[in-house]
Amino acid sequence: ASLYRIDGWGAPYFCVNSDGDIAVRPHGAATPAHQEIDLMKVVKKATDPKSAGGLGLRLPLLVRLPDVLKHRLESLHHAFDFAIRSNVYGSRYQGVYPVKCNQDRYIVEDVVEFGAPFRFGLEAGSKAELLLAMSCLTRGSPDAFLICNGYKDEEYIALALFARSMDLNTVIVLEQEEELNTVVDTSQRLGVRPVIGLRAKLRTKHSGHFGSTSGEKGKFGLTTAQILSVARKLQRLDMLDCLQLLHFHIGSQIPTTLLLSDGVGEAAQIYCELARLGAAMRVIDIGGGLGIDYDGSHSDASDMSVGYGLDEYAGAVVRAVMCACDRKLVRHPIICSESGRALVSHQSVLIFEAVSSNATRAAPLSSVGPNPALFLDELADDARSDYNNLMAAAYRSEYETCAVYANQLKQRCIDHFKDGVLGLEHLAAVDDLCDLVAEELGVADPVRTYQINLSLFASMPDFWAIGQLFPVVPIHHLDQQPGVKGILSDLTCDSDGKVDRFIGGQSSLPLHEIKGGEYCLGMFLGGAYQEVLGGLHNLFGGPSVVRVAQSDGPHCFAVTLAVPGPSCADALRAMRHEPEAMITALGQRAGECAAGDASMMRCLGL
Ligand code: PLP
Repeated sequence: ASLYRIDGWGAPYFCVNSDGDIAVRPHGAATPAHQEIDLMKVVKKATDPKSAGGLGLRLPLLVRLPDVLKHRLESLHHAFDFAIRSNVYGSRYQGVYPVKCNQDRYIVEDVVEFGAPFRFGLEAGSKAELLLAMSCLTRGSPDAFLICNGYKDEEYIALALFARSMDLNTVIVLEQEEELNTVVDTSQRLGVRPVIGLRAKLRTKHSGHFGSTSGEKGKFGLTTAQILSVARKLQRLDMLDCLQLLHFHIGSQIPTTLLLSDGVGEAAQIYCELARLGAAMRVIDIGGGLGIDYDGSHSDASDMSVGYGLDEYAGAVVRAVMCACDRKLVRHPIICSESGRALVSHQSVLIFEAVSSNATRAAPLSSVGPNPALFLDELADDARSDYNNLMAAAYRSEYETCAVYANQLKQRCIDHFKDGVLGLEHLAAVDDLCDLVAEELGVADPVRTYQINLSLFASMPDFWAIGQLFPVVPIHHLDQQPGVKGILSDLTCDSDGKVDRFIGGQSSLPLHEIKGGEYCLGMFLGGAYQEVLGGLHNLFGGPSVVRVAQSDGPHCFAVTLAVPGPSCADALRAMRHEPEAMITALGQRAGECAAGDASMMRCLGL
């Protein structure tokens, strides 16, 4: 486990059990050993054929863990609750989940259900997100916030007002000054009084990758002058009582509580000023940014980690808001946060298989090359002299000289091959000889390439797009020392489709030999953003999905939902092809070819 830093990034949800498999602790540290869910058993249940009691799904497999989501949500709430009680703060915490992080129906429904006792709500950033949030929140707590962020046209605003008229606790957050006119006009037209929030563009700037959201040049929010102008306009319209919330978002993965306190403190001053100007302020919405420890280092020195936990985060927020409000004698507001990554990253594990790995040398010299005598005869004089020098240096144990002659011989033979004077077998023999020399000298590249049955572009898009690292670990054999180092090459024909950077600054991953049988790896902490950002590169669809809940039965778990991954036909339809029409057209061309029809249907999943 320490080799892969599982205790660092995985605690309290993932551990290695006595079988050497990764197990899920669905209720965090409080999970008794007999309730741990062995991921290999989940794989077996999901992939065994139906006739053998399995679900007949194919890998890759996304395992959703609703118990973990529940535990995360409760932990976040309790961290704020604790900070509020210990600081004698005069109001409460009431979070929302930004659905953009993962709009999967079951995740959003779970958040609403698990969050109902805490009045947990939702944040939407588009009309489609608003619709799904409205529909889910009809089953949530009546006090839960429905925060409307993002670009807003008149339709969006009308929909948000409609939500308000249905008694959903909806707040329209102005991201741009111009949105105010549409809100005022539409609310007058529909006869619904809005509750308005303002997104402030803070001066506090986060310097990490996600920091471009923040600072004076940030893309979103209102400047100080715009905030004042909105407040004055609302006052003129006798609508200052509608302005009740101040929002900001410093950026994702806030590295330190120092930066957090600075940003929250600045926003709390704006909040107090708006209260002084007569707005009916009652909520400060601190946005997202609660970070995840992807590399297990628990340090702000790395972009892939943060140097605080939930308790420190909540404590810093509560103290910063309280300090500003107490100085200005302003009543403590409800604290709302929009933590996405921190809420849903742990709730799923993507499991895939390494199906093969290349050996360091493809085959021995004798099996691919001509016999050594013939090999020498075919070499031109200069190459033969390199060969002889190489052998003489080897005889004298002059290893550095050996390497020089081996490289020289290889390059010369490549040139001769390009000139058409050296055959394919001879070039292969030279390659093999040089690999052998490199191995003997200990300078051969020991890193193998493991082929994985996954598309990086579908399942880990942030790895490719923004260099985000996720913990990737074999989910079994962890009681055996891995003997190999490898990188992972995906199914796509794209040279970017490989995982060759790993947490802890490693350029390869310790792996086990694939000795027949399956070798399964897991990608962890990918529950936020990856599913919806993933694309159909090479028309590889996403994984099969199972929802796995802890249960008291003999296997400790129950699969409550199983969905096969998209078929070839689904992927083709996404690009507006018509698989059924394809079959007909190809069938006509092939004439009466039942075997062809059957194989096409199987391939398309029809
Ligand atoms: N709120 C807003 C306005 C955002 O833009 C984002 C993400 O970018 C979030 C919340 C969620 O942030 P995180 O996932 O870092 O918690």
